Amino acid sequence: MRFVVTAGPTREAIDPVRFISNRSSGKMGYAIAEAVLAKKHHVTLISGPAAIPPPRDAEFISITTADELHRAVHRSLRRCDVFVMCAAVSDYKPAAPSVRKLKKQKSAFALKLVPTRDILASLPKRRRFAVIGFAAETHDLKIHAEKKLRAKNCDAIVANDVSGTETGMESDENEVTIFFRDGEIKKISRTSKKKIARELVKIFEKIFEKGLTKKSW
Ligand code: C5P
Repeated sequence: MRFVVTAGPTREAIDPVRFISNRSSGKMGYAIAEAVLAKKHHVTLISGPAAIPPPRDAEFISITTADELHRAVHRSLRRCDVFVMCAAVSDYKPAAPSVRKLKKQKSAFALKLVPTRDILASLPKRRRFAVIGFAAETHDLKIHAEKKLRAKNCDAIVANDVSGTETGMESDENEVTIFFRDGEIKKISRTSKKKIARELVKIFEKIFEKGLTKKSW
């Protein structure tokens, strides 16, 4: 089976030395890539800036911005059975990044932001691979995850609560709830991201195999 996994944050330039980003460490996505390799599948790991080394046997593509991620994903999906969109894509980017470093001013200034392209929403509706989205929420997890599942046409959404510091972003541990297209909900209680990744990969394999028998995802 061929997996494409995205991980980590994106960075959107304000000027040559400043950017907008988020707290994603890439740990969850890298753990998924490792778990995929442990099951002897192929993995392409597309990652934004992260402080951890990629698994040795992964095909590794490094990106910085949401636009670069968009391009890398579409190229990689030509050969893919399971697409795991774990990256924390910046939802906005500066409308007009400055080529020169902005000078400090005494007065307040407003930075105009425009939305980045939604990568999951840009995928073809009819396709021959399974699509897994992620959702990081601080409140109303179920409502938001189920809405995303439909709006982004995913086969499953892996949702985690990022309101605390014990799990979710930057942490080594996580606790996730998986929302499936047929309404099924499965929870993986708090444990290491590596263990969660192994459970998730088993679930992703099943989603792919179920899609094969139906001949569609
Ligand atoms: O809407 P929200 O950003 O919360 O959705 C999260 C899911 O959508 C994640 O799987 C994330 O990787 C993906 N996403 C995307 N393109 C964006 C923003 C988020 O594919 N521009």
